[in-house]
Amino acid sequence: MLKRPSAASYCLGIESTADDFSVGIVSFDGKILTNVISAYVPEKGGIHPREAARHHAEVAGKVLAKAFQRAKVKPQDIHIIAFSQGPGLGPCLRTGATAARALASYLRVPLVGVNHCVAHIEIGKLVAEARDPVTLYVSGGNTLVSAFEAERYRVFGETLDIAVGNCLDVFAREAGLHQKEGMPLGAMVEELASRGQALISLPYTVKGMDLSFSGLLTAAVQLLHDEKHSLEDVCFSLQEVAFSMLTEVTERALAHTEKPEVLLTGGVAANKRLQSMLKSVAEEHKARFCMVPKQYALDNGAMIAWTGILAYQHHVTLPIEESFVKLKWRLDEVPILWVGG
Ligand code: AMP
Ligand code: MG
Repeated sequence: MLKRPSAASYCLGIESTADDFSVGIVSFDGKILTNVISAYVPEKGGIHPREAARHHAEVAGKVLAKAFQRAKVKPQDIHIIAFSQGPGLGPCLRTGATAARALASYLRVPLVGVNHCVAHIEIGKLVAEARDPVTLYVSGGNTLVSAFEAERYRVFGETLDIAVGNCLDVFAREAGLHQKEGMPLGAMVEELASRGQALISLPYTVKGMDLSFSGLLTAAVQLLHDEKHSLEDVCFSLQEVAFSMLTEVTERALAHTEKPEVLLTGGVAANKRLQSMLKSVAEEHKARFCMVPKQYALDNGAMIAWTGILAYQHHVTLPIEESFVKLKWRLDEVPILWVGG
C-alpha cells in the first residue's frame, strides 16, 4: 500500500547527469533539508562518462547515508524518489537511475523521472523567489535562454555547438590550468580575467537567437599559441565576448516576453562578471535580477527532489519498467503542469 503525503512528507532526489553525484531531501512544502554533492574531478582532461559513472557508483552509498543523517529523516519517512532522467551522459544517468529504482522498490514508494533542465529552473524559482522569469541556464553541458509560455518552458535561444562552461573549461586546459576540488576551471579563468585589461578582438557569434562558442574557443586558443598577449588579457577578452553574447540573447528574450524577472543559474552563474552584465540589462528592462546561490545553481539533488514533488502533485509518476534514461531529453518537450492555469 502506498503512503499518503502529509506535511511531513519528503522527496529524495538523485542527480547524476554528468560529473556530480548528489542527493537532496526536500519536504512537500519546499524546505530543503539537505543537499549533499560529490563531484568527480578527472585526473586529467575532460569528463570521461564511464569514469564519472564509476565515481557515482562508488560514492552513492556514502552520499545517501550522509543525506539521511544531515536531514534527520529515516528512509521510511520518504514519500517519493525522484531522479534525473535526462538529458546527460548515458553511463552517469544509468547509475543514478539504478540507485533510484532500487530505493523506490525497496521503500515501496513512487518513482518520478525529472528533466534536469526543468529542475534547474524550478529550484531557482524556489530559492531566489522568482515567479515567472526569463532564465539563462549556463553550465558545463547546457547553454540556453528560456521562459514559460503555453504549458512549457520554451527555448528562446541555445547554443548550436558547445556549452559556454565547456568553452571555458577546454580553454583553461589548453592554457595549462588544472581543475582542483572546490576550484572549477571557469573560476580560474574568472580570477585571471579580473586582472586583464586589453580587449582583444575575438569572434562574436549570435545567429538569430542562438549562440555558437566553438569559433570563439578556437580563436582564443590560437591567441595562447601566438604568445603576443598575456593570459590575463586573453581570459578577460574571452569572458567579455562570451558573456556579451549570452547577455544579448537574454535581453532580447526579455524584451520580447516582458517577463518580470531574470533568473541566472547553472555552474557558470557563479561568475561575477556575468552576474553584473545580466543585472544591468534586467534593471534597464525594469525586471528583477534573481541569482541562485551556488549550491543550488550547480548540479544538485535538491533541485531533482523539488521538481519531483511538483510533478508528483500533478500525478506524474514513472513505472519502474518504463524508467529508462533519456540522453537527449529537451527542456521544451516537458509539459509543465504546475505553472499557470
Ligand atoms: P555544472 O555543469 O552546472 O555543474 O557547472 C560546471 C561548469 O561551471 C564548469 O564548466 C565550470 O568551469 C563552470 N564554472 C564554475 N564556476 C565558474 C565561474 N566562477 N566562472 C565561470 N564558470 C564557472
Ligand atoms: Mg557539474
